[in-house]
This record gives sequence, C-alpha cells and structure tokens, in this order.
Amino acid sequence: MIYLDNAATTKPFDSVTAVIEKYYKELYFNPSALYSSAVNVASQIENARHHINAELGGGGNIFFTSCATESNAWAYNSGIKNKKGNIVVSMGEHASGYENAKVLISKGYDVRFVKLQSDGRIDYSDFVKRVDENTTFISVIHCSNETGAINDIKQLVTTAKSIAPKAIFHSDGVQALGKIEVNCNSLGVDLYSVSAHKIGGVKGIGGLWIKNGIRLTPLLCGGGQEAGARSGTENTAGIVGFAEALAVFKKTSSQKICELRENMKSALSHIQLIEFNDCEQNSPYILSFSVPGVKSEIIQRLLSEKGILLGLGSACASRHRNNRILEAMGRTMPHIEGSMRISFSHENTNEDIKIAANAINDCIRDFRGF
Ligand code: PLP
Repeated sequence: MIYLDNAATTKPFDSVTAVIEKYYKELYFNPSALYSSAVNVASQIENARHHINAELGGGGNIFFTSCATESNAWAYNSGIKNKKGNIVVSMGEHASGYENAKVLISKGYDVRFVKLQSDGRIDYSDFVKRVDENTTFISVIHCSNETGAINDIKQLVTTAKSIAPKAIFHSDGVQALGKIEVNCNSLGVDLYSVSAHKIGGVKGIGGLWIKNGIRLTPLLCGGGQEAGARSGTENTAGIVGFAEALAVFKKTSSQKICELRENMKSALSHIQLIEFNDCEQNSPYILSFSVPGVKSEIIQRLLSEKGILLGLGSACASRHRNNRILEAMGRTMPHIEGSMRISFSHENTNEDIKIAANAINDCIRDFRGF
C-alpha cells in the first residue's frame, strides 16, 4: 500500500502507540485522584502541556480537547464577547470552522466571509474591507487542508488589531503544527486550534492554545478539569501521545517532504490540462491538482484497487463533492469534479512517488482515452 492521504490522518508513530498502550494498560489512573499513581499521571499531563506550549512559542497555554473540531467550536462559540459586533471568517476554513460560522448566522450574528484568491490564500484587500471597529471575532485558517495554501496570519492579525484592537483572532493550525513555522506569540493570535492525529498522534485528542489574559467561557462544564476551562476526565493516553508525536514529528525531515512533493508535481505535470491548486506559500505536505473532464472519485477508486490511497480534498467533505473551497478559488465544476489531493508523510519514499505518479497517469489516460 502507498498511503498518500496524510492530511486526512497519519499513521501513529510506534513510540506513540507504545506510550498510549502503557497509559491504557498500566497508568490508567484518573489524574484528578489524590493517590500517588494518579498524581504521577497528572504530572505527566503537565509535562506534555509544557512541551506542546514550548513548541507553540509560549505566551499562552494549551487546553486539551477531544479534537480540533471541538477546539474550533469552542473558539467560535466563546470567542465572541460582544453580541452586537460582527464576525469575520475566511471562505477557506475547514468545515469545523465554516459550519460554526453558519450556525452563528442562523442565530442572527453578522458574519462576513472573506474571499479567497485563485491561489487559495485569503484575499487581503477583501479582508481589510470586512473588518471594522465593531469586529469582535476573526477566524482565518493558517494552512489550508484542501490545498496547503499558507495564510500570512501575522500580517492579518496586525491589520485586524489596528482596526479592531479588542477583536479575538483565532486561527486553525491543524495542518500547520509541526509542518511549517508556528509561533503563536509572534503570529499574534489569541486562539489557535491543533490536533494530534495529523502529526503521528492518535485520533480523539486536540487542543486550543489560548493567549495569556484571555478567558473563554467553557463549552463543557462539569468536574472543572483543565483549570476549569474544559471539563471531562482527561484523555491521558492521548495527551501524552500528542506530546510524543510532536517531538518525533519535529525530528522528521521537511526537506525530504519538499523533495517528494517536487518529484510528484513534476511527474504529474505531463498530464494534459492538469492544473495545480497551489501557491508560492504552500505547505510541502499537500499537493492538490485538478484534471478537468476526469471524475476524481473514479480515479480514486481505480487507484485504491492498485493499493494507492489518496484524497479528493478534505476527508470530511469527500462524501459530498461540491468543493466549497475550490469553488471559492474560482474553479469551475469540471475542475472541481476532477480534483485530487495528495498529502505526504516521512514514511513515503521516492519509489512510492514514482509508482503512484505512474499509476495516476495511467488511470487518467485510461479514463480519458488519451
Ligand atoms: N481543521 C483542519 C484544518 C483539519 O484539516 C481538520 C481535520 O481534517 C480539522 C480541523 C478537524 O480536526 P479533528 O479531526 O481533530 O476534529
């Protein structure tokens, strides 16, 4: 099998599954209990928190959640302090952001969507038009899960805060953490969502980084875990595994990923009419492309029969093929229907890329007959 859908999820590192097994089999104590074995587990959670905080650049604290979908829901629902103000959200958000924005509209909020450029990044001039002194909450994804386009969050925060100094700025960093430079402090964000399973951790553990001095109303109330910010017995195994995953991921070579992507891109560029949905500031981990006239679901199925697994874009969206983000980038229906997403990991080799690229070429040629 050649697995090229790493933006959907990654294979957990062996050291992550080993640590997780230990927490399930031996260190299963509730970290809120007062006996020493439980206190030890609680202190391991704090070590994990400390490690992830350090990677995120300090100046805030990570609060663990069940996934980034929860982190985004928390940010959108609690980040809005002033009910009269408006909310500015990019068209490029993951469904877990976008759908929350739609709920806010249904509750009567003034939500303003910011256009995307054809290269997948947020349209800066449109952003400037949408933010005003009454803006209370802003959300812009750091790195697109669809195309890998990287937004200049620092520039957007600086601009937004010069217009609306009290606005809360949230960024979804799920596809950025570990993969591109992330320092929440220097980005200037107030809230930053992350998830473990995109970087060799397991599913079911995420976090919301909150800048010092900001207090969010909890989404989940109860036993007061996570300093009262997010109740629910901690996913101890997931949390410790998250810190382990981040440490291991950071040691993998991003240079290798850049080479894999370059090789794949040049091998695919011979396909007639192919169009890459990328930009200069793109994550090396994602390569999105469209072949108009081709039905990508069929190509995906043919490839999976050969043991090559790739995505059609966001895994969450792949069951309904109207690709909102490619549409916002101005792509036509034939492009959208023929769009595919390849996403890399350190496990992929140059040989994998050659085999996969040949297979993609063959399947498309067979489908089109040229
Ligand atoms: N945000 C982005 C950019 C994502 O790619 C994903 C997952 O695909 C999520 C949020 C949701 O993360 P989780 O699976 O942890 O809920």
